[in-house]
Amino acid sequence: MTDHRALTAAAATGRPIVPVYVLDDTTPGAWRAGAASRWWLHHSLESLGGQLGALGLRLVLRRGPALAALQRLLDESGAGGLYCTRAFEPWARHDEDRLAMLGIDLRRFPGTVLFDPGTIRTAAGTPFRVFTPFWNACRAAAAPEPPLPRPGRLTAPRTVPHSDSLADWGLLPTGPDWAGGLRASWHPGEPPGRERLARITTGVLEHYREARDRPDLDTTSRLSPHLHFGEVSVNQCWHATGAAAAATPGAEAFRRQLGWREFCYHLLYHWPTLPERPFQPKFARLRYAADPAALDRWQRGHTGIPIVDAGMRQLRHSGWLHNRARMIVASLLTKNLRMHWRTGAAWFWDTLVDADLANNSASWQWVAGSGADAAPYFRIFNPVLQGRKFDPDGAYVRRYVPELRHLPARFVHAPWEAPAPTLAASGIELGATYPYPCVDLSESRRRALAEYRALGRQP
Ligand code: FAD
Repeated sequence: MTDHRALTAAAATGRPIVPVYVLDDTTPGAWRAGAASRWWLHHSLESLGGQLGALGLRLVLRRGPALAALQRLLDESGAGGLYCTRAFEPWARHDEDRLAMLGIDLRRFPGTVLFDPGTIRTAAGTPFRVFTPFWNACRAAAAPEPPLPRPGRLTAPRTVPHSDSLADWGLLPTGPDWAGGLRASWHPGEPPGRERLARITTGVLEHYREARDRPDLDTTSRLSPHLHFGEVSVNQCWHATGAAAAATPGAEAFRRQLGWREFCYHLLYHWPTLPERPFQPKFARLRYAADPAALDRWQRGHTGIPIVDAGMRQLRHSGWLHNRARMIVASLLTKNLRMHWRTGAAWFWDTLVDADLANNSASWQWVAGSGADAAPYFRIFNPVLQGRKFDPDGAYVRRYVPELRHLPARFVHAPWEAPAPTLAASGIELGATYPYPCVDLSESRRRALAEYRALGRQP
């Protein structure tokens, strides 16, 4: 409710406000929220309902195609207008345009991104395809407005429209309840999001620049789910680093990551097919492998490649994954295992609490090499070297892959290189207590490079 331009503008009219959330899992083309996102959504709505309740307002919950649900609510309530934060998902943009065309007084406010995508363009007037000039253009544009305080007074309607019950939506997992790890890791809602935001300047920034790539350390903000669900605004993150920017190099590095988020959103805005189709059309010709057994091992964190297994198990347990680990696991799936990036993106969509159409689609395409400003085709992450560099003591692997916890650091990222007595002393029997690698890293790298090279030669 803080830094919420639509809410502030609606409050300023002095007219009664009906806060509404529509769960749209039926509009054709709209992506249904994944299981971990639904868990977060339940708790986020519960928290928002509580905050609004404290101000005397009831959050109205409706389900169904958003367009029809909103039209019905407007009719029932007699509301004079609809105030919302401008969305970027193609189906939501389509609904907004339709509502405006139907003559409804629709007011769209910025809030999802820092800069209006229409204003950040190359000298030729086209959208940017490369990050650094994009970010330079953002930095040269007018600074984002300061965040707004939460509105002081909100007027409740005399009659509150009917609301669905949150419990009836069945967003939480039952039979089995697998969300124990999510509960242990996260507190959805704006107040906990604000606490995380405060941590940026009280701890995160100090070591961010040199340590943000270390999955074994807790050195990033972990704000991504709060940002995705609008509990913290990107504008608040930007301004939280303002005063500190001159003082700590971490502030600029952090803002640059907000820049990557911005880039992903602008890409989705200009290329709404980003979640479905390769940004570089030639990649449509690439042949992909279908290997359900290998996919299952990747999803469960049983590939036999320690840093990949640690990442995939962290994801399964907590619904979140460190950015470096995201890149490593995505590279293994798309390049060594030759699977389609959409297969990996779909798994992330279901399991991440921060699953986000713009960031997820652009990032998967970036790793796969088909995206805008993508990793060059020859950049195939070597998970053993990545592990040794970014998890030097193996603490991350040991935390999530306890089978390997007694292995000395020099072998923890490649247990197959350990001599038999070392394995035995560490309680490991390869192929029994921990699997052999599911793929030959060198051979699969050679094959992938050859295919990518051939693709580059094709007209
Ligand atoms: P911090 O390092 O604290 O960064 C602050 C914020 O900047 C993040 O919360 C995020 O909003 C943004 N950010 C940071 N890095 C990136 C990046 N590389 N790209 C875009 N935005 C970034 N992020 C999501 O929010 N949702 C996704 O579904 C998602 N899927 C991804 C899939 C793959 C294959 C990869 C490689 C990355 C993906 N990311 C995604 C980006 C990134 O990994 C996460 O945003 C980041 O790890 C979140 O952790 P944090 O909040 O601690 O980040």
